Amino acid sequence: MKYWPVPNSHSKKIPIKGTPGSFWEDRGDRRHCGIDIYAPAGSEVMSIDDGTVIDIGSFTTTNKIPYWNKTKYVLIKCLDFCIYKYAELQKITVKLNEFVKGGQLIGYVGTVLNFDKITNNSPQYIQEIKKKSIASMLHLEVYNSKPKVTKEYLGGNFFGNKKPENLLNPSYQL
Ligand SMILES: [Zn+2]
Repeated sequence: MKYWPVPNSHSKKIPIKGTPGSFWEDRGDRRHCGIDIYAPAGSEVMSIDDGTVIDIGSFTTTNKIPYWNKTKYVLIKCLDFCIYKYAELQKITVKLNEFVKGGQLIGYVGTVLNFDKITNNSPQYIQEIKKKSIASMLHLEVYNSKPKVTKEYLGGNFFGNKKPENLLNPSYQL
C-alpha cells in the first residue's frame, strides 16, 4: 500500500515530463533529481511506504546558496528496497533507525526559498518559481541504493547530463 506523501499539496499529480518540478527537468547547467510537490509551509509529510529511516541531515543552507533557507532531508529505505529521499523539510518527526509505516507523519514542508535573495543573476528556473510565488514544497527523490555524496549533486540538482545509475524516476515508483 502506497501513500501520497503530502495530503495538503496543491496538486495530487506528479509533474509531467518537461514541466517545472518534474524529474530530470533541464535547468540549464543542472538537472532536477526528483519531483517537487508544492504545498504550503508546515504541511504534513507522510511516508509513502513502510520502511526504516537510514539517514537524516541538512539539505539546504544559506551558506551554500544565499536564496536558500535552512531545510533538512530524511532517507527512508522501504521493504521493496526503494529508498525515498524527502527533502526541503522544516522539521523531521522521526529518528534514525526508526521503523515507519506507510502514511505515518515524518515531517513538515519547509520554506526552501528566500524570495528577498533571488535576483536577476539567480538561475532562470529559480526566478520563474519566484514569479509563481512558490517558496515551499516537498522535494522527493527515489533511489535503488543509498545515494552517494558527490560534487555534482547540490540541493536536489545534478550538474552534468549523466544521470546517477541508482537514481529512479519517481513517476514509476508512486
Ligand atoms: Zn526539487
